[in-house]
Amino acid sequence: MSIAINIEELQNELRPVGVTLVAVSKTKPIEDIQEVYNAGQRIFGENMVQELVDKYEKLPNDIQWHLIGHLQTNKVKYIAPFISMIESVDSLKVLKEINKHAVKHDRVIDCLLQIFIADEDTKFGLDHVELIELLESEEFGQLNNIRIRGLMGIASNTDNERVIKEEFYELKMLFDGIKVSYFRKVDTFDTLSMGMSSDYKVAIEQGSNMIRLGSTVFGKRVIKHFKAK
Ligand SMILES: *Cc1c(COP(=O)(O)O)cnc(C)c1O
Repeated sequence: MSIAINIEELQNELRPVGVTLVAVSKTKPIEDIQEVYNAGQRIFGENMVQELVDKYEKLPNDIQWHLIGHLQTNKVKYIAPFISMIESVDSLKVLKEINKHAVKHDRVIDCLLQIFIADEDTKFGLDHVELIELLESEEFGQLNNIRIRGLMGIASNTDNERVIKEEFYELKMLFDGIKVSYFRKVDTFDTLSMGMSSDYKVAIEQGSNMIRLGSTVFGKRVIKHFKAK
């Protein structure tokens, strides 16, 4: 029951500061996810569509599933009926496809726009120019069955805390700027998803209000770290 103890501690730390925890359950078996669920966690993140659909079918239906990995347009249809949030929207093309399937299912799908902030070319995401282009496009204005809730970003995979801090700082500045320029009167543009197990404390310091933790929730290594605290 070590997972359950850990999740409670974590929730007690995050709730007072208004940070939402997404438990990243990719590669983890159903039993582990059920255990974290039993400890009170309801938001889970997966990065592969097929795995997400399998787990959705096997686990309690009050789980709010977030997709956090790159989404191909031809896979949108599999998650459109039930997905709670798509955090990894990185093109107008995929956003249009999400909207199309949301219409079919008569629902509005919450999305985050994934912004490229890392100092690496292996990660997906929009750059600043692409983001502005998307938001100003006529087509975007016509998508009534998606709701942009905010931005998501993944920092560089480095031990250099200064680099990570700067990347998160930049994303927070961008979030604030976009909010003022495009979503000033939209209360639901309220989510800044940044921070993973290795960097979530820095992310929260820099203004994150949604963190995505895999190994901190499910892994043995970090459970030890938490007990030692
Ligand atoms: C895997 C993953 C995480 C969680 O990573 P941990 O280091 O295990 O916390 C967070 N965000 C995304 C996009 C991921 O793919």
